[in-house]
Amino acid sequence: MAESAGFPLAEPGLWIERLGDRTFPAGRPALFLDRDGTINVDTGYPDDPAAMVLRDGIAPVIEAANQRGIPVAVVTNQSGIARGYFGWDAFARVNGRVLDLLGEQNAFVDMVFACGYHEAGAGALAIADHPMRKPNPGMLLEAGRRLGLDLERSLIVGDKPADMEAGRRAGLARGWLVDGEGATIGGLSVSPLRDAVDAEDLLTAIRSL
Ligand SMILES: [Mg+2]
Repeated sequence: MAESAGFPLAEPGLWIERLGDRTFPAGRPALFLDRDGTINVDTGYPDDPAAMVLRDGIAPVIEAANQRGIPVAVVTNQSGIARGYFGWDAFARVNGRVLDLLGEQNAFVDMVFACGYHEAGAGALAIADHPMRKPNPGMLLEAGRRLGLDLERSLIVGDKPADMEAGRRAGLARGWLVDGEGATIGGLSVSPLRDAVDAEDLLTAIRSL
């Protein structure tokens, strides 16, 4: 995979990137966020940085975590890699644009995890039910190991049930589901994230960590 050269790939289908120079004491909770449909408007297998637009209200959520000393980790499934729709080079450009847009709003991400595995792929990335692909918790657990996180107190924000399920399997207690409904999934309490009132609820949860 020539396009893999120079990128922070822990293995062919797994991007793990540490950003910035902020350090965190062990035992902190984290704010986990899905990317497409959660941070940026989901354009469906995005591969064009110029097309990226942030969702309203998400930058202040990340900024609140920054201000509380809570590490922020993006955990994103990118099956477009396995499917051959785009390569890690396009992922790098799109993701860099998303991070730049956040930075313009004073919101900063500390780690990025991206899983390129999918059963519909080809070659080394054609792996069904990979432990790093949500709803499996691998990316969250790896973040927990690398940052010494208190996962039970960590929060996840996503736009799909698989995001919430990954949080549940990682042992998190709370999640927010974009345009979703409140629910309890095992030990995970899911709150909706539909409007400004819901966003304020999430901000309050972050500030009380
Ligand atoms: Mg999503």
